[in-house]
Amino acid sequence: MDEIKDAGAAPFGALGAAVDHLTAAFEDAGLEDARESARILVCRAVGVGKLELLTSPSRRLSDSDIHQITEFMKRRLAREPVTRIEGRRDFWTVTLEIRPGVLDPRADTERLVEVSLSHIRLKQDQHQKILDVGIGSGAILCALLTDVPNATGIGIDISTTACEAAGKNLSALKLADRSRVLHADFSTFGETDFDLVVANPPYIRSEEIAALDPEVADYDPAIALDGGGDGLDAYRVIAGRLPIWLKPGGVFVLEIGYDQAVPVIALLQEAGLQGVTLTRDYNNLDRVVSGTTAPI
Ligand code: GLN
Repeated sequence: MDEIKDAGAAPFGALGAAVDHLTAAFEDAGLEDARESARILVCRAVGVGKLELLTSPSRRLSDSDIHQITEFMKRRLAREPVTRIEGRRDFWTVTLEIRPGVLDPRADTERLVEVSLSHIRLKQDQHQKILDVGIGSGAILCALLTDVPNATGIGIDISTTACEAAGKNLSALKLADRSRVLHADFSTFGETDFDLVVANPPYIRSEEIAALDPEVADYDPAIALDGGGDGLDAYRVIAGRLPIWLKPGGVFVLEIGYDQAVPVIALLQEAGLQGVTLTRDYNNLDRVVSGTTAPI
């Protein structure tokens, strides 16, 4: 009896009504993808699949379901991204755990994975050694190692939270035996002989961070976003380090901000890197710069 009374006190008591309630709340708050977010969060809170939403919209919710759905709704209204509330994100062919204090990887970064694979897949029969600079959640290295079974990788990050997150994601995907995560500063990290170096470094201009969407400014760690006054600090360091990290003829693939191609390409060329190529993302914005060190 109590259960029915408490459930009746909530503005929704069944699966379908919960989705409608959250959709309306998100629309009122001007949030994008209101219904899709509502569906995802209700499914996650109750532990059902999307099919069940369609086939059993009148399924009654328990008090604890209602409580969990309400908590998720409040978090989204506080502009926490759906992926962070869910605690996971699909990236390339893998699913990653996303935790506070670590950058939530973006779909744009899948372009970096694609460009990287176009280089290392050609040499799949050889053992290739990858370095991920600023590994964050481990998204890029997890994607590459999953697709190229012969490769091994090292990920470095200055954030211990990121190192822990990446280690956990690599282990969950059974990639721990082909990878190492090191708490290290990219300006001093000195291991050599990599076939491929990848990085999605911080590239937002410091003064622009506060004006980003709250989903980014309030939830992604500043250390993963802040590229200094002109957004290029990390590229200055990386350009100088690539010739140390890479084998002769080794490949680098870097993510850049949509308006940074010209200065980043100039920095790389000044550092003696060759064949520097620009690739656009799925929104047709400049996003990835790749190239090589000189062959022997
Ligand atoms: N792509 C992220 C954003 O625009 C920035 C990530 C980064 O600085 N590397 O929010």
